[in-house]
Amino acid sequence: GLSLESYCRKHEIAVTGDNVPPPMSSFRATGFPAELLREVHLAGFSAPTPIQAQSWPIAMQGRDIVAIAKTGSGKTLGYLIPGFMHLKKKHNNPRLGPTILVLSPTRELATQIQDEANKFGKSSRISCTCLYGGAPKGPQLKDIDRGVDIVVATPGRLNDIMEMRRITLHQVSYLVLDEADRMLDMGFEPQIRKIVKEVPSRRQTLMYTATWPKEVRKIAADLLVDPVQVNIGNADE
Ligand code: ADP
Ligand code: MG
Repeated sequence: GLSLESYCRKHEIAVTGDNVPPPMSSFRATGFPAELLREVHLAGFSAPTPIQAQSWPIAMQGRDIVAIAKTGSGKTLGYLIPGFMHLKKKHNNPRLGPTILVLSPTRELATQIQDEANKFGKSSRISCTCLYGGAPKGPQLKDIDRGVDIVVATPGRLNDIMEMRRITLHQVSYLVLDEADRMLDMGFEPQIRKIVKEVPSRRQTLMYTATWPKEVRKIAADLLVDPVQVNIGNADE
């Protein structure tokens, strides 16, 4: 196979951080549970995408990560699968609140993330719900009460539900800011900061973004601790 160096060069993977683990260039190298690998195989995926190959080992070490990669590069499973592994270790009671919180800019994207979580998390018996605006709160509150491992939410609706005191985030230990650049463009920074205040500081934080402007750098510096930065294809360097 390819040497590590040529794998990174070929896929334009650049990393910044101490003792960064090598990318997992094949599914076999991941050590994921067999049922999950079967799911991946059934989906027709032949190899991890570069962002997955490099973010999986970092995320599974429990480290904070900033991943910069363009749309369509497979970022969702880049954070979801390590999230499934994280859940397995926690054994939290979902009725006491979610363990994983994913913030996403739009209803459409949040729904796609939930679909991916349900599809690939089925074998791990993961439960997931989606909170977004422009829809009645009733069913969303019901899902929260029933208990879920993963909440995927737009910042506006999650804030509303927090203000109603209908969700608690004290069990969240894996926080994902997906499409961070878009969330900031849409003006969600105040809501994001309010939400993060309710998440314990003992947590793992993962930020995924397509671009890396100074507003995103600023919020990354405030919310992440000693992150490893992964940049694919010199995306917006
Ligand atoms: P991004 O968040 O970077 O825009 P997505 O996570 O939405 O990208 O993934 C884009 C598409 O690629 C999805 O349809 C997803 O199911 C698919 N995909 C994810 N991982 C792989 C893989 N390893 N091989 C092939 N396709 C993949
Ligand atoms: Mg995405």
